[in-house]
Amino acid sequence: MTYEYVVSGTVIYDDEFEVMEGYVVIRDGIIHEVSTGEVDSSIQGIIAPAFINAHTHVGDSVVKDISFDSLKELVKPGGLKYKTLSEASEQKLIASMTSCLCDMKRTGTCAFVDFREGGVSGVHALKRACVGGLKPFILGRPDGDDVKDVLMVADGIGMSSVNDHPWDVLKGAAEASRKSGKLFAIHAGEADRSDIKGALELSPDFLVHMTCADDGGIRVAADKNIPIVVCPRSNFVTGVGRSGERPPIKEMAEMGITVALGTDNVMLNSTDMFAEMEFTAKMFVQNDRQVFKMATLNGAKMLHLDEKIGSIREGKTSHIMILDEKSNSLCGTKDVIKSIVRRARPDDIKVVLEGKSGAV
Ligand SMILES: [Zn+2]
Repeated sequence: MTYEYVVSGTVIYDDEFEVMEGYVVIRDGIIHEVSTGEVDSSIQGIIAPAFINAHTHVGDSVVKDISFDSLKELVKPGGLKYKTLSEASEQKLIASMTSCLCDMKRTGTCAFVDFREGGVSGVHALKRACVGGLKPFILGRPDGDDVKDVLMVADGIGMSSVNDHPWDVLKGAAEASRKSGKLFAIHAGEADRSDIKGALELSPDFLVHMTCADDGGIRVAADKNIPIVVCPRSNFVTGVGRSGERPPIKEMAEMGITVALGTDNVMLNSTDMFAEMEFTAKMFVQNDRQVFKMATLNGAKMLHLDEKIGSIREGKTSHIMILDEKSNSLCGTKDVIKSIVRRARPDDIKVVLEGKSGAV
């Protein structure tokens, strides 16, 4: 049986985010029709694409509000993060990840890309924590297991930094990922530039951070068409991006790089993409449309899924959030995208629609 319903109001349409008054017809979890005009509809509001959080460490949700002295002390092998994760029971880890995923879904995110430590069992633990309506892309890490075994269960491999692993392990992981048609990604340039050259040599599907990259490093990423995920709130908290100039997001975008937004370690920041957008827009990028794109379509492009998710267009999956245009926060807005990026909050959401399951 076909299941069809209509939502109406201010629609943020297509990949260029054209703002129009109209309606969206959704049939079996797929956007069937988008049009101007008035119709009877089940719900009204601002109709926007749901977020894609392009970089998370959901496992870190097992501990919150920790104190730490430096980024290195926090994330180095054997550091505070690893110690805390290894001490958590499997049951506690899965329960905290499930809470985190429910929070992501409630705050308007429809898909996320997670770097999951702990080998094959780490990937399985996140899969067990998953909730309906939120699509996970899990990039596992060998951590003692064979990379091929991790690739059997994960969507790809996500490594720490070229400074943290032997070169042959990194090369092998990148090649095995490519051979199996899965993703390979790696952190680079977070605290300094020492790992950027090596990371670029691996030609990953995307890089995470590049906070300290200079124009030369960004140029190579642009020439090799490598997307970059930036996590400005995380960089601010860990002290590697407090200048207002780093990460160099403007430079990345100007060189034509696909830049996506991620919220990074849940230990340090919530997975709220509204908060990430507001911080990014006010600290780094004055172009609000560009920031909105980083939180939605660019994540889809990075995953090569922009024909299916990331914006509201006929034929795409109906991962849509409907915001209350009459809320005390949003009422009277003259520029819908600016308001969503700079002032909207999760409590402005009326509903997050689930797209067709299995469609992405
Ligand atoms: Zn990370």
